[in-house]
Amino acid sequence: MDQKWKFEVGDVVKLKKPHPCGSHEWEILRVGADFRLKCMGCGHQVMTERKMVEKNARELKTIEAQFPQLITPDSPTQHVGGTPSGKFSKVAHAVKMESLQDAFSLDELREFDQRVREAGVTPEYVVEIKIDGLSVSLEYRNGRLTRGSTRGDGLVGEDVTENLATIKSIPKEIPTAPEFLEVRGEVYMPHEAFFALKEQQELEDKTPFKNPRNAAAGSLRQKDAKITAARGLSIFVFNLQQVEGKTFTTHSETLDYIKSLGFPVSPRYNVYTNIEDAIAEIQRIGEARGTLDFDMDGAVIKVNDLTARQALGSTNKFPRWAIAFKYPPEVKESTVRDIEVTVGRTGVLTPTAVFDPIFLAGTSVSRANLHNEDIIEAMDVRIGDTIQVRKAGDIIPEVIGVARHGENSVPYHMPRVCPSCGAPVVHLQDEAALRCVNPECPAQSLRNLIHFASRTAMAIDGLGEAIAQQLIDRQLVHSVADLYDLTKDQLLTLDKFKAKSAENLLKAIASSKQNNLDKLVFGLGIRNIGDKAAALLAEHFGSMDALRNAAAEDISSIDGFGGVMAQSVVEFFAKDGTADLLHRLADAGVNMQWHGEKKGTALAGMTIVVTGTLPTLSRQEAEAMIVQNGGKASGSVSKKTAYVLAGAAAGSKLTKAQTLGIPVIDEAEFLRMVAPAPAEQPELEEET
Ligand code: ZN
Repeated sequence: MDQKWKFEVGDVVKLKKPHPCGSHEWEILRVGADFRLKCMGCGHQVMTERKMVEKNARELKTIEAQFPQLITPDSPTQHVGGTPSGKFSKVAHAVKMESLQDAFSLDELREFDQRVREAGVTPEYVVEIKIDGLSVSLEYRNGRLTRGSTRGDGLVGEDVTENLATIKSIPKEIPTAPEFLEVRGEVYMPHEAFFALKEQQELEDKTPFKNPRNAAAGSLRQKDAKITAARGLSIFVFNLQQVEGKTFTTHSETLDYIKSLGFPVSPRYNVYTNIEDAIAEIQRIGEARGTLDFDMDGAVIKVNDLTARQALGSTNKFPRWAIAFKYPPEVKESTVRDIEVTVGRTGVLTPTAVFDPIFLAGTSVSRANLHNEDIIEAMDVRIGDTIQVRKAGDIIPEVIGVARHGENSVPYHMPRVCPSCGAPVVHLQDEAALRCVNPECPAQSLRNLIHFASRTAMAIDGLGEAIAQQLIDRQLVHSVADLYDLTKDQLLTLDKFKAKSAENLLKAIASSKQNNLDKLVFGLGIRNIGDKAAALLAEHFGSMDALRNAAAEDISSIDGFGGVMAQSVVEFFAKDGTADLLHRLADAGVNMQWHGEKKGTALAGMTIVVTGTLPTLSRQEAEAMIVQNGGKASGSVSKKTAYVLAGAAAGSKLTKAQTLGIPVIDEAEFLRMVAPAPAEQPELEEET
């Protein structure tokens, strides 16, 4: 089939071949014989031949022709980008939220200047940092925030007022505001908040967001505004969309005005009278890149005079009065000095490349995660090699590949014994990861202790990594039960530990005994059991004793539990040492009973299987939502399956669902199912 593709700059295409970060979606930054594409998952930009893009898009289309339920709004066959999902109500933007034309070279900026001049404008330019976040509109009536919406496709976005209202830096009331005001800004997640969230997600065995932009998008589009509130989002306002009863002559004046109303505005906006000075500022911003506590994806040049802007107008895609400069991703070479292997809480060995420090996107970098043996083998990274490193999404260093092998370098192999305890390591099932399965392994004890004390688990304040390390090193703590036997005298032997800190820590440890059962169950660090699953177990069984004696089938009968999770629980309680650990915790007075609240019922009694790559939710998130809504997330399709929630590249599970006639839904449909029902909705007829 010879399909003619229409690709336009700004479109999002979905390709069959995913980026190594896992995303199938690419934003088109430039078309031609070679395309420039930006990965929607991590922001990485690539150049690729047009025919490769066509081939990949066609292959996806063939898949979609076979499985129409897989077509997602961002598919190239649907030819739209950023279409509202149906999760939130739609908002038509009175003033179009335009996107900007991108420039990848300084000469393109000079050409832009020439076009402006040829149109008869003697320009004054404002240069601003372009924050890499999510564009939103905020509307105020009589000084009150009345509506906040996403950009969507620029004409129609989604109403996310409730979520935006949780962002501290967005004013909810502006006493000095005119009757009506609309501003446009970029919601972003500061690096600090991103790293905290990432750490939390890793701790909970969830797939962490790949970069702050994804994290901001995922956080803003939460159904539960409480989750958004907890994510530490922020905003920079960069444009006055509409205002009643005020007139301005320049853009920089409007920014001053917006600032005077109390909005955080673009951190840097300076006015220049010629393009070369503007370019110099763009270069300065480029040098400062990476010293910022947020991600930026370029710098913008805008014509300052508002009348000139009107005269210049817009093409059908972009305004003619502005252009965005995209900095090339910085890639540098370095020499691998070592490959370090660390042991995690569940015994997984993680290799890290240690290389000569390089200055990359504003910070010094000398380490990058190599993930597992398969990835090391695929890249053939060896100690002594010259590697190429870049920052994914501008903050997480990543090894792209080997530039050249070092002289006399030899292929690297992961150790066959645990670097912490020396026990032999194994591959469990078909995992790429190697694991140390020694229950006494000190590296695992340390990670377990940190996990046990973490906020989501037993929330023992003051027991951070450094203290945990000392407790393990000094053999004061082997298992988490030892925490409850610690004495003040023992704590005083720790580095820099004074009487006050010892007392505080003992107090925190003592008060953790009153925690609800779910925190303890989560704190035990059972494989495949995150905090939500722990809460379900605690609620269902009501006591540690009942949970301990539960059979796999009792556990998998809980809505939301799959066989793998049930098996992990049974294995945990059958393990040598677990009974002893629980006795010791109980003897210490740690609460072993559940007292708590109920979960949602939208999916009560339904077993749902998630497969393939969903457009916005990770599989873990989708499964957690199923569980939270009273359903059961299962890993395998059977006649009992109520629905299969399928994303792109779904394989055998989808085929099986079709064979069995199980309804297949997409993410949008799923989100509609779990959305809170409107109050006036008539009651559903009871099935008989
Ligand atoms: Zn070990």
